[in-house]
Amino acid sequence: MRRILHIDMDAFFASVEVARNPALRGKAVIIGGNPEDRRGVVSSASYEARSFGVRSAMPIVRARQLCPHGIFIRGSHSVYGEVSRRIREILHSVTPLVQMASIDEAHLDITGSVHLFENEAALAAFLKRKIVEQEQITATIGIASNKMVAKIAANQCKPDGFLAIAPGQEEEFLAALSVSELPGVGPRSREILEMRGIMTVRQLAQIPESHLAQLMGVQAAAGLLAAARGIASDVVEPVRVPKSVSKETTFSEDLADWDELASVLFCLVEHCTHTLRSEGLEARKVSLKVRYSDFETKLFGLTLPEPTCLDTQVVDALKVLLPKAQQRRTRVRLIGVSLSGLSKDQHQMGLFDQKEREKWERLLHTVDDVRDKMGFDSMRLGNTLKVRKKEDSAQD
Ligand SMILES: [Mg+2]
Repeated sequence: MRRILHIDMDAFFASVEVARNPALRGKAVIIGGNPEDRRGVVSSASYEARSFGVRSAMPIVRARQLCPHGIFIRGSHSVYGEVSRRIREILHSVTPLVQMASIDEAHLDITGSVHLFENEAALAAFLKRKIVEQEQITATIGIASNKMVAKIAANQCKPDGFLAIAPGQEEEFLAALSVSELPGVGPRSREILEMRGIMTVRQLAQIPESHLAQLMGVQAAAGLLAAARGIASDVVEPVRVPKSVSKETTFSEDLADWDELASVLFCLVEHCTHTLRSEGLEARKVSLKVRYSDFETKLFGLTLPEPTCLDTQVVDALKVLLPKAQQRRTRVRLIGVSLSGLSKDQHQMGLFDQKEREKWERLLHTVDDVRDKMGFDSMRLGNTLKVRKKEDSAQD
């Protein structure tokens, strides 16, 4: 029997803004568009703003009418993305089977993890507490035997709620709810059903399938009836880890200077490790790709003793590989680096000097933050500074 946990951050963007600026706590905070831009829509509203009728996807102009004293914030997607990534790490601490459904929602298959806690409620409380401690925002959790029912359960207890539906209780739980709680029942389907007096899931479940098929079509009817019984064959599919992260550059003029080539290469490394860190990945294998002026392409590879997302460790590996590439005394047309053997960042420190590594990780995360805000080229690490002009003239 599978157990699926659905977690949904409460008023996510608005909550992140409040966490960043505690003076906003308890206020009607509305995120979205530029208030002067009449086409802007609300992307998130605090519960205080919602009490005035403000809703997601509502035109900002309308939100201003309903809540003239509200605090309107344009919002910063890179900040929300970063918070989402950190929350994903918390979720991964209870199971590797995490599927992000959106920036602020995820499904977790906790079937194999519940035994690590006293019970499901304790597991849910652990996640909620971790997120509050780390991000100062609340989340709502639903648990059931499939993603669909778990999500509906969470929807019933927002904000800061928890609701678990015991195995076998799905149909009974859904019965009292409005038909619009079921996935696939939009405003139009709801209207069709309600015109026939079908308001609740219980009423829907009692309609003969042939009758419902006449109203909604054969396929939709079968899907709706299964949903009404709490049946869904959805599985949690963890995000697939990419096979490799790579970057290469073709020169407008073939190069013979290996110091210069190395500098270009280390510059490409920065791009790749930045991608690794922003995806929460580490690489085990470093490959150097060289295309010589006669178009022969060679790959030189090295497996690291331990996965890494650090520039220094990738560069060290390339310093071992570069002399091998250099043995062919031919000019170079293209150079590139590929990081493969990727896995989710496990923060295993083991073989490397832990202090040194932590120092680098801190520094690089700061670099990543600045780059996210100011653009990649706003920061360059020491050994690639001199190559900047060269790279700018190279084709990518
Ligand atoms: Mg949410």
